[in-house]
Amino acid sequence: MLHDRDRIFRNLYGFHDARLKGAISRGAWDGTKFFIDKGHDYIIDEVKKSGLRGRGGAGFPTGLKWSFMPKADHRPSYLVINADESEPGSCKDREIMRHDPHLLIEGALLAAFAMRAHTSYIYVRGEYIREREALQRAIDEAYAAKLIGKNNVHGWDFDLYVHHGAGAYICGEETAMLESIEGKKGQPRLKPPFPANVGLYGAPTTINNVESIAVTGEILRRGANWFAALGLPNNTGTKLFQISGHVERPCTVEEEMGIPLKELIDKHCGGIRGGWDNLLAVIPGGSSVRCITAEQAMNVTMDFDALGKLGSGLGTAAIIVMDKSTDIIGAIRRIAYFYKHESCGQCTPCREGTGWMWRVLERMERGQAEKREIDLLFDVTKQIEGHTICALGDAAAWPVQGLIKNFRPVIEERIDQYQAKHARVAAE
Ligand code: SF4
Repeated sequence: MLHDRDRIFRNLYGFHDARLKGAISRGAWDGTKFFIDKGHDYIIDEVKKSGLRGRGGAGFPTGLKWSFMPKADHRPSYLVINADESEPGSCKDREIMRHDPHLLIEGALLAAFAMRAHTSYIYVRGEYIREREALQRAIDEAYAAKLIGKNNVHGWDFDLYVHHGAGAYICGEETAMLESIEGKKGQPRLKPPFPANVGLYGAPTTINNVESIAVTGEILRRGANWFAALGLPNNTGTKLFQISGHVERPCTVEEEMGIPLKELIDKHCGGIRGGWDNLLAVIPGGSSVRCITAEQAMNVTMDFDALGKLGSGLGTAAIIVMDKSTDIIGAIRRIAYFYKHESCGQCTPCREGTGWMWRVLERMERGQAEKREIDLLFDVTKQIEGHTICALGDAAAWPVQGLIKNFRPVIEERIDQYQAKHARVAAE
């Protein structure tokens, strides 16, 4: 359980002043110059030692990612911050931008300095109008106070731009985001080359999630060992969990990594609607991960490794709870439609497969399918997974795989019911 003294986001709910004065009173911008004076490698080493893993979903070690950036290059380096929070269920980055934006701005300066970048872009989801305004207000304050900009008090010239997306989910994919910032259609690039070599405007670029960047200042202030002591080995620190669906009180909350899911829901959400016996399934990491069963949910801890072992994932820690009133086939069919709609269409397995899966699920939801189609559907998910340019193909395939793996009897029963009903009608 996380003690209040260990919280990084002390204005998560906007009860306090989000402006510069309020942020400074909570500790932001304290010692920033001191850390910069210690040098690029010091910051990268501390972040490595803290064990911080990227909070955008993949969980790649952040310090290691930063160390891939070239130390000497004739091209400029860029930091791009991914605030295109579009994964269904995810709603944490918006709280940082609205209520604690200075942690993000300070983190951007520190991370950019560590990677020898003088320019950073924050790519904000198209629908986040108020968030963008709050963020821009905070950036303007930081410029006015000479915390960032040319000849700032920290001694590292640093420009920070907000780039507002237009509402396409695929622009959250890192290379599609670079294309979009460059003014092109947001379509993922083939990798390699990776962005650390050829990124924004053909120059070395690192793309990080908002939360990964916003915790950097506190990690340096309190020390890598403090962060590493929270959570579990290999899953350290605190994390913003977002719990939605059939709980008594949906919320976003900062907790230790590795907290048992049951404890998280009981303590912060008032439990499952109708009690734990009424739980059907949980999607633990945003709509793209495979769902887990009620029994698994009661015993799992919320970290990358434990959820990975169940064949699911921590993703963005967007937990979607479904009680027994849920039509699980309908829920996954709805998710399948989302990915069909958001596919950029470059790769055949994704462009054709997402629509195909959705259409089959539509029939399965009504029971209007053959049982052999369940295996066929699973086969098709396997032909999409790992066979596309970007991870949207996997994101579309995994929820369907989770449905078939965990709820095959529900699909079969629906088919049986449909066939029995129509056999009766035919006999009459
Ligand atoms: Fe586009 Fe889908 Fe291919 Fe990604 S996997 S590049 S979204 S078609």
